[in-house]
Amino acid sequence: MSILARAINDVANRLRVDPDWGDVAAYIPELALVEPHQLAIAVVTADGTTYAAGDADTPFSVQSITKVFTLAIALGRVGDQLWGRVGREPSGRAFNSIVQLEQENGRPRNPFINAGAIVVTDEILSGRAPRDALAEIVQFIRAAAEDDDIHIDDAVAASETAHGHRNFALAHFLASCGNLKNTPDRTLGTYFHQCALTMTARQLAMAGRFLVEAPDLPRLVSPVRARRLKALMMTCGHYDGSGDFAYRVGIPAKSGVGGGILAIVPGKASIAAWSPGLNRYGNSLKGTEALAQLARQMEWSVF
Ligand code: GLN
Repeated sequence: MSILARAINDVANRLRVDPDWGDVAAYIPELALVEPHQLAIAVVTADGTTYAAGDADTPFSVQSITKVFTLAIALGRVGDQLWGRVGREPSGRAFNSIVQLEQENGRPRNPFINAGAIVVTDEILSGRAPRDALAEIVQFIRAAAEDDDIHIDDAVAASETAHGHRNFALAHFLASCGNLKNTPDRTLGTYFHQCALTMTARQLAMAGRFLVEAPDLPRLVSPVRARRLKALMMTCGHYDGSGDFAYRVGIPAKSGVGGGILAIVPGKASIAAWSPGLNRYGNSLKGTEALAQLARQMEWSVF
């Protein structure tokens, strides 16, 4: 067994016996009902080989991890113009914070907090129907993963809409500041469906390959753009837990409230970790720990 295969299995086995699984997201019933005792690690290395341990073929709600892909799409459409509408500094606040948006006059701090991601989705939606915008998002992710079996969970999307008061508050505030091109309903309809994409850890690790920048892996964006996406993942990918994640894990990554994390070791690997229980920042508790242990064992770090 290779060093990497052994490391992944060691980490998964160690974490499975640790009794603290964190708390699953409770803001919608579909996520609150997920069985917390699940853990997956999947890694695709620069030569294209996949290694996996645990529940790597169990689909989960990828949620905010989609924000990396939508940012790539929006930058592809409008380039640096996007930065007129959204910043690129760490927020130091919860992902769904309202107070900061008011203080900063409706220009979200970065594209990974909810307000920023809503602006990014609004940009992708401009000039076309929600169905077409969603088709582009799903298609981009399917192409990245080279897997057409990636779908939106309509029940999760409907639930996000039914319980989306805070996101509606953010979208309406953005609109009141003139920073929304479409109606809040239209933009959030697209955003909620994007969040409701379901993938396995194995599919997610595949989808992250374009950020690794290795000759044998697909390239969907320019090298400069791939580096910039990773810079934002490093500084903003874990919200107000981004500094702690950088300290403990040391590689760029993006989390989702479904318990998934996509992490990239530049030039070396795309990693997906998943465990539904979250820490106090809303990031996967065991997913973070899995990445910390794996990075330490493999001596993976951008620092
Ligand atoms: N759908 C979630 C929300 O909008 C996404 C947040 C997340 O994954 N952190 O609140």
